Amino acid sequence: MIIAAQKNIEEIKEMIAPYEKILIVGCGACVSFCSAGGAREVDALAETIAAERKEEGRGVEIETATVPRQCSVKFVERIEKKTEQAETILSMGCGVGVQTIAKRFPQKRVLPALNTRFIGAREAEGVWTEMCMACGDCILWRTAGICPVARCAKGLINGPCGGSSNGRCEVSKDIPCAWQEIYHGLKRLNLLHYLKEETPRHKVFIHPDRVVRADLQQQQAT
Ligand code: SF4
Ligand code: SF4
Repeated sequence: MIIAAQKNIEEIKEMIAPYEKILIVGCGACVSFCSAGGAREVDALAETIAAERKEEGRGVEIETATVPRQCSVKFVERIEKKTEQAETILSMGCGVGVQTIAKRFPQKRVLPALNTRFIGAREAEGVWTEMCMACGDCILWRTAGICPVARCAKGLINGPCGGSSNGRCEVSKDIPCAWQEIYHGLKRLNLLHYLKEETPRHKVFIHPDRVVRADLQQQQAT
Protein backbone atom coordinates (compact mmCIF):
# COMPACT_ATOMS: atom_id res chain seq x y z
CA MET A 1 0.00 0.00 0.00
CA ILE A 2 0.97 3.63 -0.27
CA ILE A 3 2.56 4.95 2.91
CA ALA A 4 2.21 8.61 3.80
CA ALA A 5 2.73 10.88 6.78
CA GLN A 6 1.07 14.12 7.76
CA LYS A 7 2.94 17.32 6.98
CA ASN A 8 3.96 19.38 9.95
CA ILE A 9 1.29 21.78 11.10
CA GLU A 10 3.36 24.87 10.24
CA GLU A 11 3.40 23.91 6.55
CA ILE A 12 -0.33 23.15 6.62
CA LYS A 13 -1.01 26.52 8.27
CA GLU A 14 1.00 28.28 5.57
CA MET A 15 -0.96 26.53 2.80
CA ILE A 16 -4.38 27.29 4.24
CA ALA A 17 -3.53 30.82 5.42
CA PRO A 18 -5.55 32.65 2.72
CA TYR A 19 -8.73 30.64 3.39
CA GLU A 20 -11.53 30.67 5.95
CA LYS A 21 -13.80 27.92 4.54
CA ILE A 22 -11.89 24.69 4.36
CA LEU A 23 -13.05 21.21 3.39
CA ILE A 24 -10.78 18.48 4.79
CA VAL A 25 -11.08 15.22 2.88
CA GLY A 26 -9.76 11.91 4.20
CA CYS A 27 -9.25 8.61 2.43
CA GLY A 28 -10.41 5.28 3.83
CA ALA A 29 -7.78 3.14 2.08
CA CYS A 30 -3.93 3.08 2.29
CA VAL A 31 -3.42 6.31 4.22
CA SER A 32 -6.09 5.26 6.68
CA PHE A 33 -4.30 1.96 7.39
CA CYS A 34 -1.04 3.78 8.06
CA SER A 35 -2.86 6.26 10.35
CA ALA A 36 -2.06 9.32 8.23
CA GLY A 37 -5.29 10.36 6.52
CA GLY A 38 -8.32 8.35 7.63
CA ALA A 39 -11.48 9.65 9.32
CA ARG A 40 -9.78 9.78 12.72
CA GLU A 41 -6.89 11.87 11.39
CA VAL A 42 -9.34 14.17 9.58
CA ASP A 43 -11.13 14.92 12.85
CA ALA A 44 -7.84 15.47 14.66
CA LEU A 45 -6.53 17.86 12.00
CA ALA A 46 -9.84 19.77 11.95
CA GLU A 47 -9.56 20.25 15.72
CA THR A 48 -5.94 21.36 15.47
CA ILE A 49 -6.66 23.90 12.73
CA ALA A 50 -9.66 25.28 14.64
CA ALA A 51 -7.55 25.66 17.78
CA GLU A 52 -4.70 27.33 15.90
CA ARG A 53 -7.06 29.80 14.25
CA LYS A 54 -8.67 30.59 17.60
CA GLU A 55 -5.25 31.38 19.00
CA GLU A 56 -4.56 33.65 16.02
CA GLY A 57 -7.91 35.40 16.58
CA ARG A 58 -9.11 34.39 13.10
CA GLY A 59 -12.30 32.60 12.20
CA VAL A 60 -12.47 29.39 10.21
CA GLU A 61 -15.29 27.18 8.96
CA ILE A 62 -14.21 23.58 8.61
CA GLU A 63 -16.21 20.88 6.86
CA THR A 64 -14.98 17.28 6.74
CA ALA A 65 -15.56 14.16 4.66
CA THR A 66 -13.82 10.82 4.21
CA VAL A 67 -14.28 8.81 1.03
CA PRO A 68 -13.46 5.10 0.65
CA ARG A 69 -10.71 5.83 -1.89
CA GLN A 70 -9.52 9.25 -3.07
CA CYS A 71 -7.81 7.73 -6.11
CA SER A 72 -11.20 6.79 -7.57
CA VAL A 73 -13.24 9.57 -9.14
CA LYS A 74 -16.46 7.65 -8.48
CA PHE A 75 -15.88 8.08 -4.73
CA VAL A 76 -14.58 11.63 -5.07
CA GLU A 77 -17.90 12.55 -6.73
CA ARG A 78 -19.55 12.08 -3.35
CA ILE A 79 -18.00 15.27 -1.93
CA GLU A 80 -19.33 17.51 -4.71
CA LYS A 81 -21.98 19.16 -2.53
CA LYS A 82 -19.49 19.90 0.22
CA THR A 83 -17.00 21.44 -2.20
CA GLU A 84 -19.49 24.12 -3.22
CA GLN A 85 -19.11 26.15 -0.03
CA ALA A 86 -15.40 25.47 0.42
CA GLU A 87 -12.77 28.02 -0.58
CA THR A 88 -10.15 25.28 -0.60
CA ILE A 89 -9.92 21.52 -0.21
CA LEU A 90 -7.29 20.08 2.10
CA SER A 91 -6.71 16.51 0.98
CA MET A 92 -5.51 13.88 3.42
CA GLY A 93 -5.03 11.38 0.61
CA CYS A 94 -1.80 10.40 -1.11
CA GLY A 95 -0.54 12.38 -4.09
CA VAL A 96 -2.86 10.42 -6.37
CA GLY A 97 -5.84 11.35 -4.23
CA VAL A 98 -4.91 15.04 -4.28
CA GLN A 99 -4.66 14.97 -8.07
CA THR A 100 -7.89 13.04 -8.50
CA ILE A 101 -9.77 15.66 -6.49
CA ALA A 102 -8.00 18.52 -8.31
CA LYS A 103 -8.95 17.02 -11.69
CA ARG A 104 -12.57 16.48 -10.69
CA PHE A 105 -12.97 19.96 -9.18
CA PRO A 106 -10.65 22.15 -11.28
CA GLN A 107 -12.25 25.37 -10.02
CA LYS A 108 -11.00 24.63 -6.48
CA ARG A 109 -7.49 24.79 -5.12
CA VAL A 110 -6.59 21.41 -3.61
CA LEU A 111 -3.84 21.30 -0.98
CA PRO A 112 -1.89 18.23 0.21
CA ALA A 113 -1.97 17.66 3.96
CA LEU A 114 0.26 14.58 3.64
CA ASN A 115 3.67 13.73 2.29
CA THR A 116 3.42 10.57 0.18
CA ARG A 117 6.46 8.50 1.04
CA PHE A 118 6.57 5.08 -0.59
CA ILE A 119 4.86 1.82 -1.48
CA GLY A 120 5.36 -0.52 1.43
CA ALA A 121 4.10 -3.11 3.85
CA ARG A 122 3.39 -3.15 7.54
CA GLU A 123 6.06 -4.88 9.63
CA ALA A 124 4.73 -4.03 13.08
CA GLU A 125 2.62 -1.36 14.74
CA GLY A 126 3.78 1.93 13.20
CA VAL A 127 6.63 0.28 11.26
CA TRP A 128 6.45 0.27 7.45
CA THR A 129 9.01 -1.07 5.02
CA GLU A 130 9.46 0.20 1.49
CA MET A 131 8.87 -2.69 -0.89
CA CYS A 132 8.44 -1.27 -4.39
CA MET A 133 9.49 1.85 -6.28
CA ALA A 134 7.09 1.30 -9.17
CA CYS A 135 10.00 0.98 -11.60
CA GLY A 136 7.68 -0.21 -14.35
CA ASP A 137 9.59 -3.43 -15.14
CA CYS A 138 9.17 -5.94 -12.33
CA ILE A 139 12.02 -8.41 -11.85
CA LEU A 140 10.70 -10.11 -8.70
CA TRP A 141 10.47 -13.42 -10.57
CA ARG A 142 14.28 -13.43 -10.80
CA THR A 143 14.86 -12.37 -7.19
CA ALA A 144 12.77 -14.73 -5.07
CA GLY A 145 10.06 -12.13 -4.57
CA ILE A 146 12.41 -9.61 -2.92
CA CYS A 147 12.83 -6.26 -4.64
CA PRO A 148 16.46 -5.13 -4.97
CA VAL A 149 15.42 -1.82 -6.51
CA ALA A 150 13.59 -0.74 -3.36
CA ARG A 151 15.34 -2.81 -0.70
CA CYS A 152 19.02 -2.81 -1.63
CA ALA A 153 20.40 0.50 -0.33
CA LYS A 154 22.33 0.94 -3.59
CA GLY A 155 19.46 -0.24 -5.79
CA LEU A 156 21.70 -2.94 -7.30
CA ILE A 157 19.85 -5.23 -9.69
CA ASN A 158 22.71 -7.59 -10.47
CA GLY A 159 23.89 -9.05 -7.24
CA PRO A 160 25.40 -7.78 -4.01
CA CYS A 161 28.03 -5.08 -3.61
CA GLY A 162 30.04 -7.41 -1.43
CA GLY A 163 30.03 -5.12 1.57
CA SER A 164 27.42 -6.79 3.75
CA SER A 165 28.39 -8.09 7.14
CA ASN A 166 26.50 -10.73 9.14
CA GLY A 167 23.52 -10.30 6.84
CA ARG A 168 23.33 -6.54 7.42
CA CYS A 169 23.68 -3.87 4.77
CA GLU A 170 26.97 -2.03 4.34
CA VAL A 171 25.13 1.29 4.14
CA SER A 172 23.19 0.80 7.36
CA LYS A 173 23.46 -1.97 9.91
CA ASP A 174 19.81 -1.28 10.75
CA ILE A 175 18.61 -2.97 7.57
CA PRO A 176 19.17 -6.46 6.25
CA CYS A 177 21.16 -6.93 3.05
CA ALA A 178 18.48 -7.44 0.40
CA TRP A 179 20.85 -9.45 -1.76
CA GLN A 180 21.65 -11.84 1.05
CA GLU A 181 17.90 -12.43 1.44
CA ILE A 182 17.59 -12.88 -2.31
CA TYR A 183 20.40 -15.43 -2.26
CA HIS A 184 18.76 -17.45 0.50
CA GLY A 185 15.36 -17.20 -1.21
CA LEU A 186 16.73 -18.41 -4.55
CA LYS A 187 18.64 -21.21 -2.84
CA ARG A 188 15.50 -22.34 -1.03
CA LEU A 189 13.62 -22.40 -4.34
CA ASN A 190 16.46 -24.13 -6.18
CA LEU A 191 16.76 -21.13 -8.50
CA LEU A 192 20.32 -20.00 -7.81
CA HIS A 193 21.08 -20.05 -11.54
CA TYR A 194 19.39 -16.63 -11.77
CA LEU A 195 22.35 -15.16 -9.89
CA LYS A 196 24.60 -16.15 -12.78
CA GLU A 197 22.41 -14.45 -15.36
CA GLU A 198 22.63 -10.72 -15.79
CA THR A 199 19.46 -8.70 -15.54
CA PRO A 200 19.88 -6.46 -18.58
CA ARG A 201 20.78 -2.92 -17.62
CA HIS A 202 18.26 -1.58 -20.08
CA LYS A 203 15.48 -3.08 -17.96
CA VAL A 204 15.75 -0.92 -14.88
CA PHE A 205 17.66 2.32 -14.61
CA ILE A 206 18.52 3.63 -11.19
CA HIS A 207 18.41 7.37 -10.76
CA PRO A 208 19.67 8.98 -7.53
CA ASP A 209 16.13 9.92 -6.54
CA ARG A 210 13.90 7.72 -8.57
CA VAL A 211 13.77 4.84 -10.94
CA VAL A 212 12.96 5.52 -14.55
CA ARG A 213 12.70 3.28 -17.53
CA ALA A 214 15.78 3.50 -19.73
CA ASP A 215 13.58 3.73 -22.78
CA LEU A 216 11.99 6.89 -21.36
CA GLN A 217 15.48 8.30 -20.94
CA GLN A 218 16.31 7.50 -24.50
CA GLN A 219 13.16 9.26 -25.65
CA GLN A 220 14.20 12.37 -23.76
CA ALA A 221 17.68 12.23 -25.26
CA THR A 222 16.42 12.09 -28.85
S1 SF4 B 1 11.23 -4.66 -9.47
FE1 SF4 B 1 10.23 -2.68 -9.89
S2 SF4 B 1 8.01 -3.11 -10.00
FE2 SF4 B 1 9.00 -4.93 -9.09
S3 SF4 B 1 8.81 -4.61 -6.87
FE3 SF4 B 1 10.80 -3.74 -7.49
S4 SF4 B 1 10.44 -1.57 -7.95
FE4 SF4 B 1 8.45 -2.61 -7.86
S1 SF4 C 1 25.15 -4.61 1.57
FE1 SF4 C 1 23.51 -5.68 0.42
S2 SF4 C 1 21.67 -4.31 0.58
FE2 SF4 C 1 23.48 -3.12 1.22
S3 SF4 C 1 24.10 -2.03 -0.62
FE3 SF4 C 1 25.34 -3.95 -0.55
S4 SF4 C 1 24.12 -5.46 -1.70
FE4 SF4 C 1 22.74 -3.74 -1.30
